Amino acid sequence: MHELSIVAGLFETLSAQARENRAARITGVTLRIGRLSGVVPELLESAFDMYKKGTIAEAAKLTVEVVPLRVRCRACGAERGVESYVFLCAACASPDLEILQGTEMILERIELESDDA
Ligand SMILES: [Zn+2]
Repeated sequence: MHELSIVAGLFETLSAQARENRAARITGVTLRIGRLSGVVPELLESAFDMYKKGTIAEAAKLTVEVVPLRVRCRACGAERGVESYVFLCAACASPDLEILQGTEMILERIELESDDA
């Protein structure tokens, strides 16, 4: 399962961040996932819930935001969001499109909590 290895990597980042900030626990995590990243948000959420047990993020809530696909036409320079998988420029019908966003996964936000507040 692809999502499980992503979550394993994510938890390494999370625990490093928590250590750096001397946090006692992580209460929330927000991820942005490109529509073309190949990641299924539901699978990612269930992998996260499975993985977090017994960790510093045991009580963390995962929020997944899906980033729409955005392309630019190399022929005429038009930019637009893509809803369907029709890879032709809407302005000039060229198939020469550059993908601007929609394939990435970004750790957008971590909410931390410490004991000595
Ligand atoms: Zn075009």
